[in-house]
Amino acid sequence: MNIVEQIDKINMQLTVKGYKLTPQREITLKVLLENERDHLSAEEVYMLVKQEFPEIGLATVYRTLELLAELQIVQKMNFGDGVARFDLRMEGHDHMHHHLICKVCGALEEIQDDWLLDLEQRVATEYGFQVTDHRLDFTGVYHTCKNNSKQCKRTGKAVS
Ligand SMILES: [Zn+2]
Ligand SMILES: [Zn+2]
Repeated sequence: MNIVEQIDKINMQLTVKGYKLTPQREITLKVLLENERDHLSAEEVYMLVKQEFPEIGLATVYRTLELLAELQIVQKMNFGDGVARFDLRMEGHDHMHHHLICKVCGALEEIQDDWLLDLEQRVATEYGFQVTDHRLDFTGVYHTCKNNSKQCKRTGKAVS
């Protein structure tokens, strides 16, 4: 699905809930979709939105992000650096994807497959509890970051 199709899809989700895709909301969505891998903070989204829509205010971007989070289109995440970051939920995936967070290069990689299905089944059987969502972030170090190179060979990120 390209970005235009993704925006159309989200537009339908908004309409169903009684919200309109205003130009401000559309540009915010576009920035999120274009930078999907980057897990942007509200300020970062704002800086990018401003380039195309200079008259937009930070408060509007905040409100849009909060609305998208409320509608479960994005997920507000904290990866331990004290900054709320916005992560798109995968179309058709009810459960949140997993993350690998490298402590050396700082990269944040996503695992889109749900690796928790067996565990969810076990929780259902042993606790009579249906899992509707979860978060699983792995913190660690890439092999490619361990050998004191300047740049992680896997992620291309600078090693500090
Ligand atoms: Zn993510
Ligand atoms: Zn799951």
